Amino acid sequence: MRHEIPVDALGPQGQPMADAVGSCVHCGFCLPTCPTYATLGEEMDSPRGRIVVMREVLEGGIELETAMPYIDNCLGCQACETACPSGVQYGDLITPFRAYAEERREREPLERAQRELVLRTLPHPRRFRLAARLGGVAKPLAGRLPSSLAAMLDLLPDTLPRRARRLPELVPAVGERRARVALLTGCAQQVLAPGITVAALRVLARNGVEVAIPREQGCCGALALHTGAVEQARGHARRNLRAFPDDVDAVLTTAAGCGSGMREYGLLLAGEPDEEAGAALAARTLDVSAFLATLGLSAPPPPLEAPLAVAYHDACHLAHAQRVRREPRGLLRAIEGVTLVEPAEWELCCGSAGTYNVERPEIAGELGERKARNLLATGADLVATGNIGCMTQVEAHVRALGRELPVLHTLQVLDRAYAQTLKEPIA
Ligand code: SF4
Ligand code: SF4
Repeated sequence: MRHEIPVDALGPQGQPMADAVGSCVHCGFCLPTCPTYATLGEEMDSPRGRIVVMREVLEGGIELETAMPYIDNCLGCQACETACPSGVQYGDLITPFRAYAEERREREPLERAQRELVLRTLPHPRRFRLAARLGGVAKPLAGRLPSSLAAMLDLLPDTLPRRARRLPELVPAVGERRARVALLTGCAQQVLAPGITVAALRVLARNGVEVAIPREQGCCGALALHTGAVEQARGHARRNLRAFPDDVDAVLTTAAGCGSGMREYGLLLAGEPDEEAGAALAARTLDVSAFLATLGLSAPPPPLEAPLAVAYHDACHLAHAQRVRREPRGLLRAIEGVTLVEPAEWELCCGSAGTYNVERPEIAGELGERKARNLLATGADLVATGNIGCMTQVEAHVRALGRELPVLHTLQVLDRAYAQTLKEPIA
């Protein structure tokens, strides 16, 4: 007997889920760009297969437990959306499906504990800094731990950068003010690479952008949202709704994952009293590279003394989820002396994907090594990208291959070009 997805029972997300399922024509164009299909070669680990699996669960055709291994393998990279000629909004299906599944599934105690640890630590910079320090001490024990815990430790840098000084609430524009924005400072990034925010602030100020940094802001909620912890994600979103001012031209993010998370506030808060405010904040949120490229550099960096080859790595949540590919490349090309080189398989995820490299270390490891090899094969002097998770993953896999290739955020490359320090060794 033919079933239908119970749209009404699924709440405000029901119709977008049904639309995503209904618009898939099973053509398979998305398969080659799907990192799990590329790695595992299974139809059920492809976007097309997962859409069928999710539809079957929602229609009552198969049990949730049968479906979850394939759903859990999905990185949520949205490469399938970029590839799909029929415009299937896969993100509108997988994210609410994970929330649906989370309410109904049973997890193993170790898996549950690990998930809680991540959700209670990563979104809080103080806790994460402490956990990262403890993790650094425990690194020599990694070989004796379960693979997912070992993967967590492997990803940590040997030493954490020094804690950045407290950021001011307002960074004025240098010279004439061309725009006023607010900045999300992020969570893990503050611990692993606080220099990204500082570099972004310097570049923005130099280009006439005044930046407000609201003290009351918190985690964007993307980590919770994409792991099905929907109430926790809503809590983060509401805090940011209160924190970010309206009188700005845009709310900027410097991490692709945070940007795409905030741009989903409309979907996250659908059917809630703050739905409209969530959608408005989502619409004002932009990646820093997209904002700056649209505004235009009022003061391009001085030419480099020697040519430099830069490989640009597309972070999935920038390239696929936010459709931002041209803008960071344009900013890098504005540095006279930089040659942009493109790695093979740009569309394939590096395996970072939030906490995926901790939850699925084998697949993530394979993807990380593949990405590191593709980037090294370009012969570039450095890699530029727009997401702290990708930076950590690529650095770890370049290191594991016994090679050296600095990885910087696009705004750090620009900042160094302004300071004329791009050719100096990168710590
Ligand atoms: S490319 Fe789009 S329509 Fe074709 S199978 Fe993939 S998701 Fe479905
Ligand atoms: S989101 Fe990424 S991993 Fe998941 S089905 Fe789409 S392409 Fe594959």
